[in-house]
Amino acid sequence: MAQTKARGPRKLRSVNPRTGEQLAEVPATTKAEVLDSVAVARKVAPEWAALDARGRAHILKAVRHNIYSHLDEIVETISLECGKPRAEALSAEVLQAVVSWLYLERTAHRHLREERLGGPIGYALGLPTKAQYRPYGVVGAITPWNYPFGLALAALGPALFAGNTVVLKPSEVTPGVGEIVRSILEPLPVGVATVVQGAGNVGAALVDAPCDKICFIGSPETGRKIAAAAAQHLTPVVMELGGKDAAIVCADADLDLASSGILWGAFVNAGQTCAAIERIYVVDSVADEFSGLLLDKLGRLRQGASDSDVGSLTFKKQWDSVARHVSDAIGKGARLLAGGPDAGPENKNGSLWYAPTVVDGVSEDMEAMKHETFGPLVPIIRVQDEDEAIRRANEESFNLTASVWTRSGRRGVALAGRVKAGAVAVNAHGESWGAVWAPWGGVGESGYGRLNGRLGLHEFVYSVTIGRNATPGIKRLWWFPYDDATEDAFRHSIGALAAPGLKEKLEHVPAALDSLRRALKAKL
Ligand code: ADP
Repeated sequence: MAQTKARGPRKLRSVNPRTGEQLAEVPATTKAEVLDSVAVARKVAPEWAALDARGRAHILKAVRHNIYSHLDEIVETISLECGKPRAEALSAEVLQAVVSWLYLERTAHRHLREERLGGPIGYALGLPTKAQYRPYGVVGAITPWNYPFGLALAALGPALFAGNTVVLKPSEVTPGVGEIVRSILEPLPVGVATVVQGAGNVGAALVDAPCDKICFIGSPETGRKIAAAAAQHLTPVVMELGGKDAAIVCADADLDLASSGILWGAFVNAGQTCAAIERIYVVDSVADEFSGLLLDKLGRLRQGASDSDVGSLTFKKQWDSVARHVSDAIGKGARLLAGGPDAGPENKNGSLWYAPTVVDGVSEDMEAMKHETFGPLVPIIRVQDEDEAIRRANEESFNLTASVWTRSGRRGVALAGRVKAGAVAVNAHGESWGAVWAPWGGVGESGYGRLNGRLGLHEFVYSVTIGRNATPGIKRLWWFPYDDATEDAFRHSIGALAAPGLKEKLEHVPAALDSLRRALKAKL
């Protein structure tokens, strides 16, 4: 087994990024405790898996009720520790989690039901089959700080409803929300869902425990490390990473709608969203009008309080990275259209405000074009037409999601079909995360595997094919001996299936049946 050597902090600091004030300290879980948690999860896993999907849903419903009873406390903790407006904690985190939970409560039993496969051809070939879906056992879930409640529940939901037990390691940046998640899971039987707290070293210990499946939501850099560590145990991984999502504004776009939607898509959660718009490609003929509207609306955004529109950044490393992307872009010739280092609320005593920032005149050598910014910075890029926009959206960076803005729904869908991304929206951005019945995930650098929907649930089960000999009184053509009649029966069966026309197909049938009869008689 690969050894997890790195040490992490013994205590995690919960900080209010709007003020820099410390809120609490949360003890980190030791490596030995992580291993104990996985051992307990493994011990109770068979019992949890043995409940049918409806039985599990009945128990898991208590989590949703617990969210309802503790709503104010949950929202306050998320808002305080992330620096995000309460409206965002309510919508993208809690409402999202509740909708997803409800969807799983109502549909998991259907999605996990045994399936008959093969139909008449299966019977004709003597191979009727069924697929059963069985949980892996223990899922290790590792989640980030940007939506610490919503994403923890997005990993927990499908894993638990599918019949796995889960050990969750939330982000060390938001340990207070980690404690809240722990408390809302309390009604579940011991060991079914356990929260361990700590930094990357605790996550690494969880991967190395090992678990039977890993669910990771976070950055591509950490995703690579986790995939490599999981490979030592051949543990399958589902990972949702980030994206430098493109929004494409077509010449016929409703510019009022597009500027409002793109403003939100770029600056929701202060841009710290895996599906945030990080590139706006706008067709030249409407670029001036679009930019004017976007900048006017940006000027009306409020920043600075828990009920304002744009929150603070959540932690210092992220603030530094955003500031670096902005100064690098300006240093390399980008033009600041709004925001920037001197705008926004003043930072005192470690507060982490950064104003929503728009630039143009970007080039591919800029950090902000090469790497995910994960913050409130978005470039406007003028293009000649929609074809250029799509080419550059696909080539210049990677998308978790993307959006196309046009008055023609039909054209929008056609253009969406040409964008490389895990989800593409027309006249909206990123919101299919809320369409919990639809698969969600990335492609290439933005991740692999799916959360949400039937595919998301199936990410946490493996299929077992149950084959049945439907004619046990008759021996198989492919058994010994391999005589001439056996070969003829195969040849004519292939002819009956592969010949181009019906007439030619039928010509093989009598010989196939005759040789089959002779061959079967001689089987040992
Ligand atoms: P971000 O939260 O900025 O997206 P990361 O991808 O670094 O950043 O972190 C996501 C989650 O992965 C966090 O819970 C973090 O503690 C965890 N993590 C970081 N490094 C490792 C690692 N080597 N092995 C397992 N988990 C890790």
